[in-house]
Amino acid sequence: MKKLELAGKNQGSPYSDINMLPYIEGSIFKYSRRRDVSALMKRETEILHTSDYVKWVFTPLTEIKGIGKTTLNRLSKNHIETIYDILNVIPAKYDFYSHLTPIGQLNEGTYAVRGKVGAKEDRKAYFFLRIEDDTGFLYCKWFNITPFLKKILQSIKTGDEVVVWGKVSHFGIFWEMHHPLIAKEFKKRVDITYPTIGGLESKKISRIIENVLSKAPPLFDYLPYFIIKKRKFPFLSEMLKSIHLPEKPPQIEIYKKRLRYEELFLLNLAYQKIKQENKEKKTTTININDKMLQTLESKLPFRLTHAQQRALKEIVSDLKKDHPMMRLLQGDVGSGKTAVVAIAAACVAKEGYQVSFMVPTEVLAIQHYEKLLPFFSSCNVSCEILVGSTPKKKKEKILSLLSQGKIDILIGTHALFQEGVNFKNMALSIIDEQHKFGVEQRNRLMKKGTSPHTLILSATPIPRTLCLALYGDMDISIIDELPPGRKGVKSFMLTKKRRKEAYEFVLKQVKKGKQAYVVYPLISESENIPDVDAAEEMYKKLKETYFENIRLGLLHGGMSSDEKMKVGELFRKGEIDVLISTTVIEVGVDVENATTMVVENAEKFGLAQLHQLRGRVRRSKYQSYSYFILGDNASSLARRRIGYLCSIDDGFKLAEIDFRLRGAGDILGIRQHGIPNLVHADLIRDSMVLKQAKKDVEIMEKYNYPISEELMYILKKKWEKSLCYLQVG
Ligand code: ADP
Ligand code: MG
Repeated sequence: MKKLELAGKNQGSPYSDINMLPYIEGSIFKYSRRRDVSALMKRETEILHTSDYVKWVFTPLTEIKGIGKTTLNRLSKNHIETIYDILNVIPAKYDFYSHLTPIGQLNEGTYAVRGKVGAKEDRKAYFFLRIEDDTGFLYCKWFNITPFLKKILQSIKTGDEVVVWGKVSHFGIFWEMHHPLIAKEFKKRVDITYPTIGGLESKKISRIIENVLSKAPPLFDYLPYFIIKKRKFPFLSEMLKSIHLPEKPPQIEIYKKRLRYEELFLLNLAYQKIKQENKEKKTTTININDKMLQTLESKLPFRLTHAQQRALKEIVSDLKKDHPMMRLLQGDVGSGKTAVVAIAAACVAKEGYQVSFMVPTEVLAIQHYEKLLPFFSSCNVSCEILVGSTPKKKKEKILSLLSQGKIDILIGTHALFQEGVNFKNMALSIIDEQHKFGVEQRNRLMKKGTSPHTLILSATPIPRTLCLALYGDMDISIIDELPPGRKGVKSFMLTKKRRKEAYEFVLKQVKKGKQAYVVYPLISESENIPDVDAAEEMYKKLKETYFENIRLGLLHGGMSSDEKMKVGELFRKGEIDVLISTTVIEVGVDVENATTMVVENAEKFGLAQLHQLRGRVRRSKYQSYSYFILGDNASSLARRRIGYLCSIDDGFKLAEIDFRLRGAGDILGIRQHGIPNLVHADLIRDSMVLKQAKKDVEIMEKYNYPISEELMYILKKKWEKSLCYLQVG
């Protein structure tokens, strides 16, 4: 990392220095127009530079004396592990006692009151004082008091003048204070209530924060100065002081705003760094000319849609560059991602390089292989398949041919990533349905020494904000158009009582020679979730009732891969009319003759997942249908969601709706995506903030704005766990 040129280290309080600076009006843009960014930057590095603060702020709490083990455990369970984390805990409430209030002016609230003790009683249940001034009287009660407090209270005599601080409430017709603080003289004070964290009380947290702050070095701000000014944020020192050591009620909202921004800013900056690092890597340039592209395209049995063409163009232009492509290709199920990728793969093979094409399941690998082989053959490109069940002999042969460069394209499961699989010159790595791979694999992939061009396919439509937050380190292509002639799926919602209507419809379709799926959330009832049907039991039941005269198949994740393959094969050949199944069919199974899908207990699935499920019948050229059946306990929200599903056929729109209705975590597979763990920011509420942060990072990049060592350090600390492929420093 580049060291910053420092004009001189700033010694005094940075806060007063910042105050003394002439206010710099406007954004960095004004300066840049005058080509005078450097003056601003220099000043800024002066202000920002400190190593003490930054090192201190990321000190693990374990290194701080006086915090017990249980406390540390509880904090760490709530992701509070460093000084930075605990200082960013925002109090739930402040009680300011800045002046005395006459009793006659009391209201519900917290007050400091001075008065004479008019009566005193040491009752069994509580200790009682009546306090009076010229304007009224107030009852103070202490329940379950300690011997220590009791002694103090007993020493107070009627007629004494005292001050009490506390919360006033109306009980019957009298004002009462319970457990007030009591003393002889009035002093201003602030009571800060922190939110309870993992069962830790506010007092404990308060003590830790006080302890930590009492040893704080001068606070320097690591956020770039132009951002603080542009976004009108408070400075860090001002912020921490106002939050934890306030003299007047702090404007918490603005501090929260800064924290949320900061988090999203750091995320964007991390992504930008990853992108930048990627640009510095070298990889094979693949010279694809338009003529070859046209020739290859002409081998397809159809013409690419505009959206497909656009995506292909983006991919091809990446392949021509000498740094690795990092691209996500998003498109609804059936939008034709595979076709686009096949052309790109053929191009790379034609140029003499190898391609690996990884998919999540064997079934899918076989399907891809069978579908793509004719196309690749017609392009004179060799293609093989390698999965877990490939016989040993065949496997050895494939591996040997592969290392000699005699196989151009290798399709397979994660077997492709295992040891012993050596390509001669692999230049393009394609990963299908990446949500099934998870963030772990992505981290591993990115950390791998070699860096081929990488293309990740995803059929999970993701709302735009979420996409920025999850894939900010990648370029994104979107196929937002279906191939022509698709009729769409007619979708209906039924209650469980009426589900036989769906079964009858399925029977009608079967009579016409079509096939159907019936999908359940569970494999077997032994999973024991009330009101939810399971595939195994319903298979038996339906076989004896509605579907007794047709050919019924059962497919679920509990079966061996051999069995699954067999059933899949029978269904493909049309020897099974109706397939009873779980969501194992979700990924990729492609049977054109299947036109109807029934999903039972549809409320148990996310909208995106349901949409993906119905995608199975949507790719048909025939009119297709889906029935979503609601369990008896389905909520009204579930009803609403399924309602949207029945009226909207666009995966991206549905994802957006689901995102709003249920939050990011629930969208299909997002948990596996490993959404960067955001503490302060909320992707739904703060989508604007995310955009601002992204824009600011882009400005920094555009003007080559220096990233201080401190900011870099913070970046690393913040994301070292979730984005472990980020290399900082
Ligand atoms: P995805 O991988 O995006 O789910 P596929 O690439 O498997 O979609 O395509 C779905 C179906 O649509 C396939 O049968 C494919 O042959 C067909 N298809 C793809 N692109 C087109 C197109 N431009 N015109 C007509 N059919 C297409
Ligand atoms: Mg696909």
